[in-house]
Amino acid sequence: MEIFPWWTDEQKKFTVELQSFVTQNIPKAEKAFWARAFPMEIVREVQKRGYFGAAVPKKYGGLELGATGACIAAEQLGRLYAVGHVFVVSQLGGTHQLLHFGTEEQKEEWLTKIAKGQLGAVCITEPFAGSDAASVWTTARKEGDEWVIMGKKRYITGAGPADRYFVYTKTSNDPEVIGKYGHLTAFIVEKGTPGFSLEKINELIGFDNVPNGYLNFDDVRVPDFNRIGDVGAGWAIMTSGLNFERLVASAVVGGGLEDIIRMVIYYTNRRVQFNQQTNRFVNNQFKIADMITMNKLARIVTYYTAMLLDNGQNPAVEASIAKLLNTDYAVQTGLDAVQIVAGDGLTKFYPMERLVREGKIGQIVAGTNEVQKLIIYRMGALSYLDMPYRLRMDPDLDVPVLSLDDGPWKGKKITEDVMLKILAEDYRTNPGLYMTVEDLEKETGLEKGKVLELVASLEKKNLVATFKDRRGNVIMAKANYEGLRTAYPAEHYRWFPDWFDPEELGF
Ligand SMILES: Cc1cc2nc3c(=O)[nH]c(=O)nc-3n(C[C@H](O)[C@H](O)[C@H](O)COP(=O)(O)OP(=O)(O)OC[C@H]3O[C@@H](n4cnc5c(N)ncnc54)[C@H](O)[C@@H]3O)c2cc1C
Repeated sequence: MEIFPWWTDEQKKFTVELQSFVTQNIPKAEKAFWARAFPMEIVREVQKRGYFGAAVPKKYGGLELGATGACIAAEQLGRLYAVGHVFVVSQLGGTHQLLHFGTEEQKEEWLTKIAKGQLGAVCITEPFAGSDAASVWTTARKEGDEWVIMGKKRYITGAGPADRYFVYTKTSNDPEVIGKYGHLTAFIVEKGTPGFSLEKINELIGFDNVPNGYLNFDDVRVPDFNRIGDVGAGWAIMTSGLNFERLVASAVVGGGLEDIIRMVIYYTNRRVQFNQQTNRFVNNQFKIADMITMNKLARIVTYYTAMLLDNGQNPAVEASIAKLLNTDYAVQTGLDAVQIVAGDGLTKFYPMERLVREGKIGQIVAGTNEVQKLIIYRMGALSYLDMPYRLRMDPDLDVPVLSLDDGPWKGKKITEDVMLKILAEDYRTNPGLYMTVEDLEKETGLEKGKVLELVASLEKKNLVATFKDRRGNVIMAKANYEGLRTAYPAEHYRWFPDWFDPEELGF
């Protein structure tokens, strides 16, 4: 595993130590995988060594290696399969939430346990609430100093072995509160609390020996001490931790991906067909090159994002990209590896098919990859909104070119006629586009109100078409055909390349 130059000496040392520990334990993990047994023996060893506390501050008994340390641990422990997944949910089930929203007493209580390796789980998903995580039905109602939790959670990784369950509940039915996402509250429920039970364990592809199941909360009473953050702060807690969650959940597939590349190279060196090793076939070489590229790219994004998190930034877009790339690449690498190894790749005696199944899970957990794309689009697009140029007809070239100029109208008296000319002129350079109200403000130097007034008057005269938002506010305008004809004679809009003479054709 490549060590990045910006890591601290402690993080580098941690990587080397963990890598060696994991390599030694892979045979044991493989045995547990085949036996479909939860690898408790390895988990105990990981607990003893304090690796679960990678992101926990030293003050609470952790290693204080930040999000970077948590990713290093997830990436390496992921090579031990079930151990990696249990590590991830133990992180998701409290580390970030307690660090940022817990009281000092709560940190003392649970961060110390996390550091010692107490297994945890995060409980958001319910039968009727998947991607729409704010729509949970599980309720918590206050009775004296206690909260009474009633409902169900499903698809909970670590259900069973985990001792600590970080549960999001609904504490308000008020539509106004719900509208402001103030209806959720977070609690820690510990195994053994009366009324709290395991309902079902899922048989899932890709989670051969990872317990994942349904939980039932039958009037489970927890003290107010177990409430993490304010009443109604559940959504804020859930979303603030998502960057960390997505990142750690994506890093867990990275180590396995690297092992598969190693295995494919090992295999193709030893497999001979048509009197050649199969790594001599260029199609197999290209696929291996793609795998290496994907592995390196995903790791760079993962650890760059971890660095941003450790620097106190809010890398929401980067965390979603890391989740998307790591899991999509895991599926693609698994599929390519199966194709290169072919028949053997489809058997469970080699680990290639396992990566396809595990990667597929990765594409669904911690927010599906479609949800990641929504985040990348909605939040990522914000940094691309600033457009310094406008297309304008260049007077010498007589073609539209990107221009930084203000245009001829700014500072001049803008009448209705001028406004129509501006819109008509825009037809020459952007024939299929509207101009936004902001474009018109920039072009004319007028205030928004005045722009809207002129546009409304032109629309009334049926010279301009507008595009309105859901509330009926004009956000864009365009000269219609009548407007174009009124603004300029038809010749104004004519443009032909040098090699084309319309008159020759009778136009
Ligand atoms: C193996 C495994 C482990 C899991 N571990 C945990 C855990 O530990 N804790 C926990 O709380 N949950 C866990 N989950 C649940 C997981 O987070 C959800 O499965 C996931 O969020 C998707 O919810 P869903 O399966 O109900 O799909 P749905 O939300 O029903 O989505 C169905 C499809 O519609 C798409 N879709 C949904 N909404 C939109 C939208 N707005 N725009 C575009 N497309 C959309 C989705 O991408 C998907 O393709 C786990 C799931 C699995 C499979």
